[in-house]
Amino acid sequence: MDIQITIGSLRTKGYAVSNFDTVEHAAAYIDRATDNKRVGFGDSLTLQQMVLYRILSTHNEVSDPQQCTETDDFLATARKCLSSDVFVTSVNALSETGEMVNIDATGNRIAGSLFGHEKVFFVAGVNKVVPTLEDAIWRARNIAAPRNAKRLQRRTPCAVRGDRCYDCSSPDRICNGMAVYFRKMDDVEMEVVLIGTELGY
Ligand code: SF4
Repeated sequence: MDIQITIGSLRTKGYAVSNFDTVEHAAAYIDRATDNKRVGFGDSLTLQQMVLYRILSTHNEVSDPQQCTETDDFLATARKCLSSDVFVTSVNALSETGEMVNIDATGNRIAGSLFGHEKVFFVAGVNKVVPTLEDAIWRARNIAAPRNAKRLQRRTPCAVRGDRCYDCSSPDRICNGMAVYFRKMDDVEMEVVLIGTELGY
């Protein structure tokens, strides 16, 4: 994929874009840009791999549903994220033409990424970039979702077979809603942080 074309497309669609070679540089950038804020995370393996919760928590109030233990209230934490000053999440796929796609089970990640904050960061490794919006939807459904279903130990055909989406009717299905970000939402600052390494699914 051509990252410079991707960056240009995202800027045309209203996003601020930053691009880093390493996870460490990207995490340090978000850390510098976010101080003394209420920060909410949208469930993201990418953010986990960046250890961003620990980094930002030293000088922000950070809520992350993925930090919840069995005794914590996941939904209460997820609701808190929806009214944070800053929301940080990833995407399942991102096209060279500047569109992004997310699939969600509970909806907290998609909801938080669209409205209610001063700023939203979308953080994505280069493995998420594909040529077109059609490819991005295909990737989200057939690569990201099955891998996440397997990671979350869901009893779904995609997790068992690991090859593609079966559009299942399983009670464990994780694909209940899909957001296509055609361009930046109105009245909120949105920045895409691209990282030149593989992160998340
Ligand atoms: S719809 Fe079902 S089979 Fe398809 S990716 Fe989602 S959980 Fe897997």
